[in-house]
Amino acid sequence: MSTIGFVGLGVMGAPMARHLVTAGHDVTGFDVHTPAVDAFAADGGAPATSVADAVRGADVVITMLPNHPQVEEVAAQVLPAVPPGTLFADMSSIRPETSVRLAAEGAATGVRVIDAPVSGGQTGARQATLSIMVGGDEVAFAAARPVLEVLGTPRHVGGAGAGQVVKAANQLVVAGIYALVSEAIVLLEGSDVGAKTGLDVLAGGLAASRILDLKRESMLAREFTPGFRIDLHHKDMAIALDAARDAGVALPVTGLVAQLVAAARAMGHGSLDHSALLKVTETLSGREA
Ligand code: NAD
Repeated sequence: MSTIGFVGLGVMGAPMARHLVTAGHDVTGFDVHTPAVDAFAADGGAPATSVADAVRGADVVITMLPNHPQVEEVAAQVLPAVPPGTLFADMSSIRPETSVRLAAEGAATGVRVIDAPVSGGQTGARQATLSIMVGGDEVAFAAARPVLEVLGTPRHVGGAGAGQVVKAANQLVVAGIYALVSEAIVLLEGSDVGAKTGLDVLAGGLAASRILDLKRESMLAREFTPGFRIDLHHKDMAIALDAARDAGVALPVTGLVAQLVAAARAMGHGSLDHSALLKVTETLSGREA
């Protein structure tokens, strides 16, 4: 069993940290949002009052934070505070270049930093069925594996930053499918064809997808409680386009979908679930409810 310092007890981090407690690990949690720390303590975790407090004595540090500025801020407190040999798994979705830099900074002091972003959403976090894409040293991955397996299925995908590139690819596919499911709904409803029956048929054929399975009913009901916020997906689309530029490749559909996500945010839907991309598609046809 490991002693784990867990920083970032939000939509994803809270259930993940709780699973680690349930698995028998000694987990100390910190979040700048104090009620999140209180809730974690109520569920059997150890509360911390700062990052340094959370990682004191830890052999594994996990971060689950919104974006790279928060990861950089927390990492700047973690790296000087932990001894050589400590494992530091950043599970946030951030730009690959930050993961590469943190791995190099960690290596300089013997801290083994891996990037381990996840897919599967809040449901995956709650059910401990996350798909975990890990970039970094293979030996560090092997050491982190027993802890990561408590949260889902980890897979080593390459060197530092590779986990973030795979996550960026995941996010552009997810946003693209949301955009097309939204167009299917607008087409069906605009044609006075039963959208529920129509999407049921789609979900049983070649157009089947996890998104159709999990989200078609809530989208038809215009239920957009997050889940995964438009604001976070906007961040991820920028990561995907930056990664494409770094790789010297063109992603035209991703560029278009990124603009639809940006429009959702500009329309004031940033705090809604990413399935609210439907509101943008409806607005383009003058059909918003
Ligand atoms: P969230 O905003 O719910 O949680 C982030 C938490 O970090 C918040 O509780 C916030 O208070 C805390 N925080 C921010 N700055 C901090 C700091 N400096 N020190 C300590 N705590 C700090 O976000 P989330 O939905 O849990 O997402 C976390 C990461 O996981 C993001 O990178 C996101 O893109 C990714 N992700 C989210 C989902 C999802 O469905 N929500 C799915 C896959 C990946």
